Amino acid sequence: MSNDALLDRRIAAVPRGVANATSIYAARAENSEIWDVEGKRYIDFAGGIAVLNVGHRHPKVIAAVQEQLELYTHTAFQVIAYEPYIALAEKLNDIAPIDGPAKTIFFTTGAEATENAVKIARAATGRPGIIAFAGGFHGRTALSGAMTGKVNPYKKGLGPFPSEIYHVPLPSQSNGVSVAESLRALDFLFAADVEPERIAAFIVEPVQGEGGFHTPDPAVFEALAKMRDEYGILLIADEVQAGFARTGKMFGIEHQSMKPDLIAVAKSLAGGFPLSGVIGRADLMDVINPGGLGGTYAGSPVACAAALAVLDVIEEENLLDRAQSVGAKIRAAISAAALRNDTVGIANLRGPGAMVGFDIVDGTGNPDAAEAKRVTIRALDKGLVVLTCGTHGAGLRILVPLTASDAILDEGLDILTQALVRVEG
Ligand code: PMP
Repeated sequence: MSNDALLDRRIAAVPRGVANATSIYAARAENSEIWDVEGKRYIDFAGGIAVLNVGHRHPKVIAAVQEQLELYTHTAFQVIAYEPYIALAEKLNDIAPIDGPAKTIFFTTGAEATENAVKIARAATGRPGIIAFAGGFHGRTALSGAMTGKVNPYKKGLGPFPSEIYHVPLPSQSNGVSVAESLRALDFLFAADVEPERIAAFIVEPVQGEGGFHTPDPAVFEALAKMRDEYGILLIADEVQAGFARTGKMFGIEHQSMKPDLIAVAKSLAGGFPLSGVIGRADLMDVINPGGLGGTYAGSPVACAAALAVLDVIEEENLLDRAQSVGAKIRAAISAAALRNDTVGIANLRGPGAMVGFDIVDGTGNPDAAEAKRVTIRALDKGLVVLTCGTHGAGLRILVPLTASDAILDEGLDILTQALVRVEG
């Protein structure tokens, strides 16, 4: 089997709408390495888009899944409930940064988690409005896509989208938007479009993922906390990309002073198995009547077993600390590359823990998406998978498994440095 032959079959059988960041096809993977169908080895700095904080096929995750496979794989929680779902909810209720008692419900995808967080917030407040931030990503379904703050490719030609979803700019040092500018946009919104008493919740990523690894300025959370006190507007933290040790904390929002009312989780929660959830204040989580929430596959027992193992691995292997040391290594390597005079323009190194991103810029300091793409292609050629991000597509983001050894991390960073070297012509 060759990558080219699979590409031909893929083009014939699968629509263009699902994009591919690389031209290779997977054969097998282990921790932070992937082999393609031609036997070539790659170091994985993409982690299946932030899913593999504990790496591909972590032995403890695989063992937990195998054990579950021998018992039952599906009953539908709504038909016959099971212990792994409850145990996982208990664990997340214990560790989540929620004030007071918490409850957790499970789904399958990140988009379902953000959609259901909105359903819960709307039902609990009796209000329709949701305010999201420009550049944010909350999914591709109709409601989550409406909240995603980027028109092309997520909305262009795809509407109509559900109403009462509003956007304001995300204040962050790295995207050049000040807190004052963002709050001014909010004032305009409240003056021109909707009164604050009609808003159920703000939804925010503690670190924007797809949008470019921008961390909101802490002052914005102080403003959101005030608005919660004054108008009763809830906060939904979308932890789908930032959660589960990536930022050096279990939840990215723990870097901020404000505690959210609802938290959407997915991706690295279950180490490669499809699982998402909403963790939230028990009083809010219990508002919707039986039958109003759920899904046939929601909270799959196999995925719950995987997630319980993931949470153990994060603790046993001290991955919160590991995220800091992995991040420090990445930052040192990119800073060193930026000082060389033979690399492409590197700017705005950013992100907490091991959620590290930076921009590729041209000679005048403007974002250079074409060059960023070329860097990923050169990296792939040399055996490294790395993704772009950002509203302009000029950011590079590193989502290496936190379980990667120092040797593999160094090897990957060496390849990345080589790929950053300018190629003329
Ligand atoms: N929220 C965030 C922050 C995400 O990064 C993503 C996926 N990139 C989603 C929601 C949607 O998750 P899914 O693709 O599993 O629906």
